[in-house]
Amino acid sequence: MRKETIVENLNAVGERIVTCCNNCDRDPAEITLLAVSKTRPAEDLRIAYAAGQRHFGENYLQEALEKQNALQDLDIHWHFIGPLQSNKSRAVAEHFDWMHTVDRLKIAQRLSSQRPTNLAPLNICLQVNIDNEQSKSGIAPQDLEALAREVVQLPGLRLRGLMAIPAARQTVQAQHQPFLEMARLLHSLQELFPNEELDTLSMGMSADMEAAIACGATIVRIGTDIFGARNYSE
Ligand SMILES: *Cc1c(COP(=O)(O)O)cnc(C)c1O
Repeated sequence: MRKETIVENLNAVGERIVTCCNNCDRDPAEITLLAVSKTRPAEDLRIAYAAGQRHFGENYLQEALEKQNALQDLDIHWHFIGPLQSNKSRAVAEHFDWMHTVDRLKIAQRLSSQRPTNLAPLNICLQVNIDNEQSKSGIAPQDLEALAREVVQLPGLRLRGLMAIPAARQTVQAQHQPFLEMARLLHSLQELFPNEELDTLSMGMSADMEAAIACGATIVRIGTDIFGARNYSE
């Protein structure tokens, strides 16, 4: 994509975050913009980086590793946000700072034991299937507490919070409901585990970012509104 377009888009998303925070009385410094760069070439990430973007989210492991290799000279915080097969956990443990889609103990245990000891513990979010959709990954809300109890004991991981991809809704008002439910779930975990650094709600994409921020998102994951529509056939 054109350099100017990526930079303009990034600025526009940044302004939307500020406006939204003003409207809901939040501090924009509480929100981390995660640029979702799946299917984008490394040079698009380099353009965004030059404009100040530091956090990038990738969904496909092989593609992510290739970009990390091409961008070794940059100080990027890498977030893995896609579904992960347990036999591929090692590369995530070794090459990422954050993993947003942990939804079962087996993956958590593998990531913990595979995390290199010379790195800080891997920051993780538990993915919640907040709308109870058959097609989506994520743990059911009623099973969250039991999973969290196990995960907080794993030495290679730092449980930071929750992530969700709600079903699409027609209005901003309707978008609030699943996000408010996520905020409630995080709050109950904070009460159960007061000594954990449970400060993260990874929620909000291009189509529902404002609703997510209004409901407490701390990481918004934005792809299309920064890099344009994805073309999977390329
Ligand atoms: C692709 C993707 C995004 C970005 O979605 P956009 O609608 O392009 O902003 C966010 N989160 C996850 C988990 C994704 O897979």
